Amino acid sequence: MFRQMLEYKQLWRGGVVLAVNPRYTSQTCPQCGWVSKLNRVQQALFSCATCTYMSHADVNSAQNILALGQRERLNAFALRT
Ligand SMILES: [Zn+2]
Repeated sequence: MFRQMLEYKQLWRGGVVLAVNPRYTSQTCPQCGWVSKLNRVQQALFSCATCTYMSHADVNSAQNILALGQRERLNAFALRT
């Protein structure tokens, strides 16, 4: 129900809803790409064990999800052209 409403609202305003696989987005470093449980020492803190990048865990996950969506959209566009 929520997803249908979200898609309707996005279509209405000219946007698009992209669904991505959220797997490992909370453990992935957006700077170096390192994926590890060790990057999540605390629940609210993301701290990369390799490059020392730090961020709020939720912000980090959201950045990774956004990057995945943008990548999928670019790939879909490249396949059409
Ligand atoms: Zn890193």
